[in-house]
Amino acid sequence: MTTSTTRTELGAQTLWRQDRDHFIHPFTDYSTFHEQGCDLITDSDGIYVQDAHGNRFIDGIAGLWCVNVGHGRAEIGQAMADQATRMAYFSTFNNLSNAPAAELAAKLAELAPAHLNHVFYSCGGSAANDATIRLVHYYFNRLGKPSKKRIISRNNAYHGTTYMAATLTGIASNNWEFDTLDHLVTHLSEANCYRRPEGMSEAEYCDHLVAEFEETVERIGADNIAAFIAEPIMGAGGVLVAPEGYHARMQAVCRANDILFIADEVVTGFGRLGHFFASEKVFDTQPDIINCAKGLSSGYAPLGATLISDELFEVLGTPQGKGGVLSTGFTYSGHPVSCAAALKNIEIIEREDICKNVREVGPYLEERLKTLSHHATVGDVRGSHFMMCLENVADKATKELLPVDARVGDRVAFEAQQRGLIIRPVGHLNIVSPPLIWTRETVDRVVDILDEAFAATTESLREDGFL
Ligand code: PMP
Repeated sequence: MTTSTTRTELGAQTLWRQDRDHFIHPFTDYSTFHEQGCDLITDSDGIYVQDAHGNRFIDGIAGLWCVNVGHGRAEIGQAMADQATRMAYFSTFNNLSNAPAAELAAKLAELAPAHLNHVFYSCGGSAANDATIRLVHYYFNRLGKPSKKRIISRNNAYHGTTYMAATLTGIASNNWEFDTLDHLVTHLSEANCYRRPEGMSEAEYCDHLVAEFEETVERIGADNIAAFIAEPIMGAGGVLVAPEGYHARMQAVCRANDILFIADEVVTGFGRLGHFFASEKVFDTQPDIINCAKGLSSGYAPLGATLISDELFEVLGTPQGKGGVLSTGFTYSGHPVSCAAALKNIEIIEREDICKNVREVGPYLEERLKTLSHHATVGDVRGSHFMMCLENVADKATKELLPVDARVGDRVAFEAQQRGLIIRPVGHLNIVSPPLIWTRETVDRVVDILDEAFAATTESLREDGFL
């Protein structure tokens, strides 16, 4: 019996119950989950996904900012099947390797900024960030600077949920009643142009943020700081685009103080902002390390990668100490099936010039989403290219938020889903981060749906006395 036959016979209700009773979902509200259960997504194709009841939706979140080339790419499935049949897995420890891992490392070195030529593989974004911090600490230990341990991150950053990545993350609600490794991380203010201090120009705001970093370095001491980590555009924290010149100036502070600059391109990498990597092409920075995951394999298989500069690798890859063994890595570092998926994914991005589609359609998406600003709750529409967000407020003049129990983000997402579009609610925000193959026609359909969804939300908020 094939899996799909089994699924048909079990039926959607049985699966719904199995899920509710046994699957602990990540980032799920357990005050409602036991009653509501899951929405079972069973099929996908291009820009669409379909649920167990046969309802079809436009995917407005690329799975979870990751299905960059769109769903149902048979050739990626085939590449994975071919690799799994030929050699599904073997160790990459102790000098062993496999063809897709080697080929992909070379391809990533070709695509990344010129000085990033070395790849450390992991299984996703959190693991990539965790592995990176371990390597950074190891690097400074080897240089005889063992006090350089602290990592500077930012409030509202999202870097994952393994212990270190969760500590780097600056979204307070993510760590409620969880523990963190606070002695290793200091958070600066996020760069939030919409909510910057009253009366400050964007340029002054940038000065203010850079000064905060300089003061923090002064206070903690450069000798105690290993690295600064930042997403080029903050994603889950609210798609926050920093003021012009911010990243380059933060990098300059790093350079002046022997602090490594880490770009977390887990979301921005692989085309979302119109280039394979945003750091150099969009933000004029040359990170010492770029982390990627998600779009690297377009979500067809779990994979993360840390791209390391020649300068760092000279220290990491030099035999010292205990026989020169680099004693870190995962069973699945360089998993052949994941790497085969990534290679085919990159081939598709290049062949179809998907980055060019993002550069052409992205500005149109920004422009059309901004037309939704006339709705009562839409206080800010921001982002860049295929990474966009709408911020809901109670009052546009004061930017005051609606009460949490109005669940405005959920309401908008629900209304959109009723009309055939999945977008992501995060508190009072709605995030749009689609597959990179949306066309202008798709954008027009999406904006029509969102127009209705925001109108219906305003009506329901008024009915419930929130507006
Ligand atoms: N970094 C960033 C910027 C992310 O957005 C995410 C996931 N949304 C992660 C890291 C963590 O990736 P993963 O969920 O694959 O562990």
